[in-house]
Amino acid sequence: MGSNTIRNNPNALFMYVDMNSYFASCEQQDFKELRGKPIGVCAGNHASAAIIAPSIEAKKYGVKTGMRLNDARLICPLIKPVNGRPYRYRQIHVDIMNILKSYCPEARARSIDEAVLDLTAYRWVYPDAKELARFIKEDIKAKHDFLTCSIGIAPNSYLSKIGTELQKPDGLIEITRENIDEHFARLELTDLTGIAKANERRLKLIGINNPIEMRQASPALLRKAFGGIVGHYWYCRLNFMEIDGYENPYRSMSTGRTLSRNQRESKEKMQSLLISLCTRLEQRLVKQKVFCKEVSFYIRYKDFTSWDFNVKFTTPVQDALDIRKYVEHKIHEFENLNCLPTIFTNKTQHFGLVVKNFIEAKYVSYTLFENKMKQDKLRMVLYDIKDRFGRDKVRKATEIISPGEMVDAIGFGSVKDVQTNNYLLEE
Ligand SMILES: [Mg+2]
Repeated sequence: MGSNTIRNNPNALFMYVDMNSYFASCEQQDFKELRGKPIGVCAGNHASAAIIAPSIEAKKYGVKTGMRLNDARLICPLIKPVNGRPYRYRQIHVDIMNILKSYCPEARARSIDEAVLDLTAYRWVYPDAKELARFIKEDIKAKHDFLTCSIGIAPNSYLSKIGTELQKPDGLIEITRENIDEHFARLELTDLTGIAKANERRLKLIGINNPIEMRQASPALLRKAFGGIVGHYWYCRLNFMEIDGYENPYRSMSTGRTLSRNQRESKEKMQSLLISLCTRLEQRLVKQKVFCKEVSFYIRYKDFTSWDFNVKFTTPVQDALDIRKYVEHKIHEFENLNCLPTIFTNKTQHFGLVVKNFIEAKYVSYTLFENKMKQDKLRMVLYDIKDRFGRDKVRKATEIISPGEMVDAIGFGSVKDVQTNNYLLEE
């Protein structure tokens, strides 16, 4: 379905599940002595380490994601730093996705601690969506008794997510055509996911001061506020139509290389080429302000044999390191399976990459992952500088790093392929 496809189905029903203080709760799940205490999941425990995820108790003191440990201690002296264990959060993510899929096989992860279920086709199976939500909460509790989630139910996925924001922790809110303004009355514009300060300013400039006014605004007025089709999308989102999460499958970007004799003699040269192809795709993704959810790799040999594969990500990807990581993982899998020392043989004629299944950068949710957000911002800034001062003034690590020196680029936010790449679940 194309991104310009707007669904307006009066029977549509979505459920959004958002785990509460996920990383911190996972730690409290595994270590009972941490329960009920203000803890902060950190990368490192030195004074300037950033808190990636405060526990519910720490949040009550005002501790926020991204705060430095020593700043957090000023407002919450007893806060206990805990080292993050990404593999463990991925394992529990898989448990939760399995529970959701047992009710709705199409449940889709939106991030490591969020998922959306399109219940439209299941309305007769689950006539009472709130009851289904309670079953899901019970199943999660039965598996991991300390974990709670907020569940939102609404006629589209966007509003179902807003439902999870309305009550935390352990929330259950259904937004309907009848009660939406009651809920919206409690919100500011910036409480709407996707409306930050800049958008708020634009809206106020044309006389829209709160979510109810925004919802009741005409498509024309919203187009004026956002300068085009984006405004129309906002109109749809707030008026029960479904536009999020359906990307245009026809667009793609590709890049490839035909090798010189010199290049095909060296495995290292070919691996460097692969890195430069990933970097080139990253540059184009950044320029187009999109992330991709799928990458294909193909390789052709002089004897006309070839092979190719496709990797789909649950979390959209823009970084060359991420793309490369997935491609290389698949390559190694293929090599092992076929007992090949390398696929980059001296018979290699051509190889290339295609990225597709795009999602606009502004829809990629950063809610939890300060780390990741900083990376993505940094990338934007880097390309900005390049545009202004010329490409060779700034070089990214991926452009100069030599193969084999790459560190594990999989950070906290990665839920891509955790179901199929078991190595992500190991310590
Ligand atoms: Mg959450």
